Amino acid sequence: MSRSNPFRPALAKMQPYVPGEQPQGGKFIKLNTNENPYPAPPAVTEAIKSAATAGLQRYPDPVASAFRRRAAEVLDLPGPEWILAGNGSDEILTILVRAMVGEGQRLRLPYPSYILYRTLADIQGAQWEQTAFSPDWQLPAAFGHSDDRLRLAFLPNPNSPSGTVIPPDQVLQFAQTLPCPLVVDEAYADFADTHCLDLVRQSDQVFVTRTLSKSYALAGLRFGFVVAQPHRIAELQKIKDSYNCDTLSIAAATAAIGSTEWLADNVAKIRATRGRMEQRLAELGFHVTPSQANFVWCQHPDKSHKLIYEHLKQSQILVRYMDFPDWGDGLRISVGTDDQADACLLMLSQVL
Ligand SMILES: *Cc1c(COP(=O)(O)O)cnc(C)c1O
Repeated sequence: MSRSNPFRPALAKMQPYVPGEQPQGGKFIKLNTNENPYPAPPAVTEAIKSAATAGLQRYPDPVASAFRRRAAEVLDLPGPEWILAGNGSDEILTILVRAMVGEGQRLRLPYPSYILYRTLADIQGAQWEQTAFSPDWQLPAAFGHSDDRLRLAFLPNPNSPSGTVIPPDQVLQFAQTLPCPLVVDEAYADFADTHCLDLVRQSDQVFVTRTLSKSYALAGLRFGFVVAQPHRIAELQKIKDSYNCDTLSIAAATAAIGSTEWLADNVAKIRATRGRMEQRLAELGFHVTPSQANFVWCQHPDKSHKLIYEHLKQSQILVRYMDFPDWGDGLRISVGTDDQADACLLMLSQVL
């Protein structure tokens, strides 16, 4: 008896999303997935310990109220009902796509940018379309153009891999011309000069997502959130898992978001190292895109990026080699500690 493929046709057609390498063991200097090189705020460990001591036999607060209250204060939002918390901002992105993009519909993203949005569309049996950045990383007006089937647009801001920012007034213009909501993915906004949280008050078409993975040094914790007008948050809440954030992560995230001095200090260190890396990479002959994030995108005019990546890897230094079809390739190097950055730059000077 032959059995047919039990999975939805959309699944058979799609390519899986492949995250950056996460070597387990080994002594890599890891500059490939934009993690923070410093330990998380000390208050986080204390919060996890006391939550664990209090016991885990009860289900967690389904809507992470403690976190949302604290985050609303810190981010100067009108109240907790403007926030939905999730198991990493990747879960938040999944919730947004599931909530708004059905089979046969479309989402839009810039190119090159974060590939996961395409995977999320594929899972829905939806289509995606890309608007190419100009060579100097401006986003053409076409990103805001109408299209009958368009249900959602994504804008990582700062963008990855470029680290460049579209200024908030321009983001608002896109939101006003698009026929659908605009998700501004602010995974890296804490490292930038601007952000788009204020736009959420001006338009219920704007959704801003944040993560604790990068600027709060908590990639291993899995906590992210979205900021939108309360009637939008209420709709998103309908489709999230009942207990999508656990007791330990809610306690940890609440402590982290309240650690404002720690954040300012950490961001200052990362930005200082970023400046040094940009300068040295340019001296080594790279074309360096000025970054507003915790990584630097660089391209060498005549050396093979793939070979440079492989040489570095042999020396236990892991950076991200990225190749975008019809666009080009390059290296995305996360900002590490000063020592890590120096080791990487030294090795680069020897490889070139
Ligand atoms: C890292 C990253 C995320 C994922 O964040 P998590 O909270 O760890 O899931 C989302 N968007 C972009 C653009 C990122 O680079």
